[in-house]
Amino acid sequence: MSVVQRNAGHTKDVEGQWSTGIGLFNQRRPIMQLVYDVVCGMSAEDGLWTSKSDYKGKTYSFCCDGCKSAFEKAPEYHLSNFAEEHPGINPVPEK
Ligand SMILES: [Zn+2]
Repeated sequence: MSVVQRNAGHTKDVEGQWSTGIGLFNQRRPIMQLVYDVVCGMSAEDGLWTSKSDYKGKTYSFCCDGCKSAFEKAPEYHLSNFAEEHPGINPVPEK
């Protein structure tokens, strides 16, 4: 009997630790949408930058008007450059 009691106690302790850990993992963390400046490569929380440019149905954000005008002069160059340097990253968050 004493063995069973010890096992039961041990199981309870382990369950307690696990449920605490899972609880922490399940906490919803706000995920910030990031926008990328395709000219200089900086990133910021969506809505922070006011310099924006519409191109091919997407609105690109820029850290400053200098980057914005550089983009507007050669959008394809900066987009392909950014794609090369940041593979898999979408500079414009999907809404
Ligand atoms: Zn910039």
